[in-house]
Amino acid sequence: MLYPIEISTHSRTELVDITEAIRNAIKKSGVRSGTCIIYVPHTTAAVTINENYDPSVCEDIVTTLNRLVPHSAHYSHTEGNADAHIKAAIVGSSRTVFFEEGKILFGTWQGIFFCEFDGPRRRKLIVKILGD
Ligand code: ZN
Repeated sequence: MLYPIEISTHSRTELVDITEAIRNAIKKSGVRSGTCIIYVPHTTAAVTINENYDPSVCEDIVTTLNRLVPHSAHYSHTEGNADAHIKAAIVGSSRTVFFEEGKILFGTWQGIFFCEFDGPRRRKLIVKILGD
């Protein structure tokens, strides 16, 4: 089953916690145990799994990516968003999680984040849920 999820982002570079939306997609599927694949069909956005307890972790990820890959530099791509493409390539366009009895098998403090690198925009994610 495929579950599209729509997201509105509010900054140029931003991590949005989508853990609840993924839990809801799993719930809606009616599948109790299996695999959930989260895919971002964009070239300037990504998805990652990291700490969602202390928000300073996401701040540091954004700040550090912006420092490593500055918005303005000598890029070949002339659309003005070369940094966003590079950040998306570094972070990656999909993640996979497993769930048992309706619960995602996270480690302590883990959550799932949509990573916006060229916002604000309307974005979408595609979630695929496979029962085992
Ligand atoms: Zn571009």
